[in-house]
Amino acid sequence: MEHPAAYRGRQVVVLGLARSGVAVAEWFHKAGAYVTVNDKKEREGCPEADELEALGISVVCGSHPPGLVHEGIALVVKNPGIPYSVEPIRRAAELGIETVTEVEVASRLCKAPIIGITGSNGKTTTTTWTGLMLEAGGLKPIVAGNIGRPLTDAALEAEEDNRMVVELSSFQLKGTQSFRPAVASLLNVYETHLDYHGSMDDYVVSKQKLFANQQPEDTAVLNWDDPVCRATAESIRSRILPFSVRQELERGLYAKPPLAEAKEAGQASMLVYRDEQGVEHEIVKHDELGIPGSHNVENALAAAAIAVASGVPLDTIARVLRDFRGVEHRLEYVATKANVQFYNDSKATNPTATIKTIESFDQGIILVAGGLDRGSDYMELLPAFGRQVKGLVALGETKEKIVRVAKLAGMSRVKTVDTAKHVQDTVTEAVREAFALAEPGDVVLLSPACASWDMFPSYEERGRMFKESVHNL
Ligand code: ADP
Repeated sequence: MEHPAAYRGRQVVVLGLARSGVAVAEWFHKAGAYVTVNDKKEREGCPEADELEALGISVVCGSHPPGLVHEGIALVVKNPGIPYSVEPIRRAAELGIETVTEVEVASRLCKAPIIGITGSNGKTTTTTWTGLMLEAGGLKPIVAGNIGRPLTDAALEAEEDNRMVVELSSFQLKGTQSFRPAVASLLNVYETHLDYHGSMDDYVVSKQKLFANQQPEDTAVLNWDDPVCRATAESIRSRILPFSVRQELERGLYAKPPLAEAKEAGQASMLVYRDEQGVEHEIVKHDELGIPGSHNVENALAAAAIAVASGVPLDTIARVLRDFRGVEHRLEYVATKANVQFYNDSKATNPTATIKTIESFDQGIILVAGGLDRGSDYMELLPAFGRQVKGLVALGETKEKIVRVAKLAGMSRVKTVDTAKHVQDTVTEAVREAFALAEPGDVVLLSPACASWDMFPSYEERGRMFKESVHNL
């Protein structure tokens, strides 16, 4: 797309009235474009509509009306969650009208260098950790994107001496064209969101758009243990700074000795940075990190690599690695009752995330799982179930599928919870059942392996309800 200021006097359609849609609509309106915002939700579900209309922006709620997108439209900005199959976007494609996401618009407005972080799992943890390292290094980061604050909002505030640290989803990246982060990181690529992308290929290509406009002076931080990330390196023009928990690297950040070897020997790995001259610098031992789990060692290395690429001193990075206490709903300790520990990992919305969390514990686990059915059979949970999960309480749309895997794993302590009229009652019953299945020393873990939208408005609400039920036991 052209610079957003070039849309003065032209017509722009914004699809989706979420916070990012509102920020984009306001910006184009101020810049003198004629903006129409459209959302399929009924008017009652669009509280932002009044505010936009008061500014003189036209808002159409309740459907995607025919004729919304026509030859006179210069640009369509879509909410990342809206599928490309909806009528206005199909129509835009037919007419050759560009469709982008808010990230594309914001990146054209942002004066600060951008640090973009994506991956199937670990985005929020790594983005938050990176933000703290840059803050400690005096680089004035602004943290935005998929993590919460719309990028457009943040971009308008950013000055040249800020760093814009952006969490990016594949949905956001798919709608970018000229987006060019100075430092970009792909953490990992697992099979997920296939309902939206249609194929693994489309998902991977969307993630790889993060690097599409990078130049040799930019940096790509890549997980060297992930085959897709490694393959991505082949098509990148920027400097590659890899990280690994499995092997020593000629240059990059890694766990030494490799994490699995160290664990087997009952030792700790040292997280190390090997610089361009081949000199190794020790940062911290993996067991000194502020949060547990081998997946968090990967996130720590990624965040540290981004911070190194941004010029943060290693001792500052080490301090933040030690001090960080994690993000709510990610492997979050809740309470201990009768010597049973409760953890909230509501953000684990796919099986890979749940497997990583299960592997973070040495204790026996009673797992609370299940949620929105996206068509997976959850068979990838089988090995982790067999090894460490003693009991299961399943809820939501996928409960029968997950129970099937538990039975195949030979689990005998298995319960299902029917969805009650009040969702909190369903969660409370699940927590009680899990507590009843647990023995002293066990962990009761909410790590659903599924999105929350079959029952809850968000994974945050699911996590909060879980915590409330635990506290009320
Ligand atoms: P995202 O923002 O990508 O969803 P989060 O940092 O919010 O990632 O973590 C969500 C969940 O994903 C965590 O609770 C954990 O179970 C899992 N997870 C976090 N980091 C990783 C990783 N590097 N690899 C695999 N799973 C991870």
